[in-house]
Amino acid sequence: MTNSTSEYDASGLAERYGSVQEQITDACRLADRNRDEVTLIVVSKFHPADLVLNLIERLGRADEVPTWHFIGQLQSNKAKSVLRYASSIHSLDRLSLLEALAKERNKIAVLAQENGIPIAPATKVFIELNLTDDPDRGGIVPSNLLSFAELVLAAPGLDLVGVMGVASLEGQEERDFAAIQKASADLQRIAPVANLISAGMSNDFQTALRFGATHLRIGTAITGPRQYLT
Ligand SMILES: *Cc1c(COP(=O)(O)O)cnc(C)c1O
Repeated sequence: MTNSTSEYDASGLAERYGSVQEQITDACRLADRNRDEVTLIVVSKFHPADLVLNLIERLGRADEVPTWHFIGQLQSNKAKSVLRYASSIHSLDRLSLLEALAKERNKIAVLAQENGIPIAPATKVFIELNLTDDPDRGGIVPSNLLSFAELVLAAPGLDLVGVMGVASLEGQEERDFAAIQKASADLQRIAPVANLISAGMSNDFQTALRFGATHLRIGTAITGPRQYLT
């Protein structure tokens, strides 16, 4: 693997990953959470994808196939390509994206049937919540969650697994994570197995764990500070 440009500090990568894993274990103990129900997702944004492959190699786990999660804002016209490589999408945030994903999953099903090949496993999706007071911001406002969830549950090839949220304001993390946890409980009334909570980033994952987070999305604490081309 070539990495001559070294856009990231590869040597510290495995070390920081190990340190974050330890912090997660400690935070789980403090929050009285079972470590086994918490998944760490390494966020590689603005870094080349080979950062993740490099990390896997350094951890001596090169024989494992990484699972790719898509977490960012997703344009509808990219739905097809993301469905090809991502096993989970954390940012299902609007009806037009749901429609685009359902349409592409439908095409996959038709192609599989025409060619007599097994259909690709369903794509796991989290509904992204809008926790701000501004309804125009991305995400589903909690009061619309159940009606939106019904549409997701009816869509082909998509497996609704839970909710996702980003704490909106510094200092308001507890309020926001509590809102995510409440939304998750509401969702589980109509979809009991959709019990995952994608919440918590480098600066707030300990708090997120106290409010039930099952999937932590951690970038800079592992990859090092993002460097921008100037
Ligand atoms: C960037 C990003 C993260 C990771 O943030 P860090 O602060 O670097 O850990 C997590 N979730 C989303 C949606 C992001 O855009």
